[in-house]
Amino acid sequence: MAYVTIAASFGLAGGIVGRIKGSSFVLWFLISALVPFLGLIAAIAYRFERDELRRQCPNCGRVTKIYDALCTRCGIEFEFPDVAIAPERTPPARTR
Ligand SMILES: [Zn+2]
Repeated sequence: MAYVTIAASFGLAGGIVGRIKGSSFVLWFLISALVPFLGLIAAIAYRFERDELRRQCPNCGRVTKIYDALCTRCGIEFEFPDVAIAPERTPPARTR
C-alpha cells in the first residue's frame, strides 16, 4: 500500500512539473507514477519547450522551433535564421 501512496505522490509532482513546463500533465503523471524517481527527474530535466526560440518559415509563414531544420508544413529546408522570434512564454501573458 505504501508503494501506491509513493507512486501517487511522485505522479502528482511529476505531472505538475510537466504541466508547468508546457507538456501534458497526464503524460508526466503516468511516467512519474510508473517509475517514481526517474520519472520525476525526467520531468524536471525535460526541456522548457516554450522557452525555445522560434522562427518563421520564409516560404509558408509557419512558426517553428529555431532548431528545426525543415519546415513542418511545407518541407522547405531552412537556412540559419536571421530573425528569431521570442519564446512563447514571454509576453503577452497568457490567460487561461
Ligand atoms: Zn514552410
